[in-house]
Amino acid sequence: MKLDSLENLFVHELKDLLSAEKQLVKALPKMAKGASSEALRAGFEEHLEQTKGHVERLEKIFALLGKTARAETCKAMEGLIEEGSDLLKEEGAPSVKDAALIGAAQRVEHYEIAAYGTVRTLAQLLGQDEAAELLQETLDEEKETDEKLTELAMSEVNPEAESEAERRS
Ligand code: FE
Ligand code: FE
Repeated sequence: MKLDSLENLFVHELKDLLSAEKQLVKALPKMAKGASSEALRAGFEEHLEQTKGHVERLEKIFALLGKTARAETCKAMEGLIEEGSDLLKEEGAPSVKDAALIGAAQRVEHYEIAAYGTVRTLAQLLGQDEAAELLQETLDEEKETDEKLTELAMSEVNPEAESEAERRS
């Protein structure tokens, strides 16, 4: 890949995101399985369905550009997912593990929010209005997911982890 034009950069970023989203389609069911809180599990399952839609939107954008939808390994997402799966292997109190899972999931969402913000702006600059709209839709869903995770942490998971710790002390 040559970074000699914004168009090439745009396509490169899209390939990276396609890889990131495909990795997440595989990782989210494991995160759902690893969650003890019913609400957190449901949240991961819901975001899995959204994530499949994110892959489809990216594929649609490649079609709009007349390019093949080929993923280029997103190493950042590999690292984020690896940290999450390491957490799942740890022993511990279920609610504390849930709190850790939320932290891992929010790292993922923040990464996606940054990446989609960048590609959306590139799409706008390049006059790719339809692509920009599709990217904005995904960006909004990632932001919503991040907010839902914060709510879940504050309303349920962290209070539960705290009272679990009190019971043990
Ligand atoms: Fe996504
Ligand atoms: Fe996401």
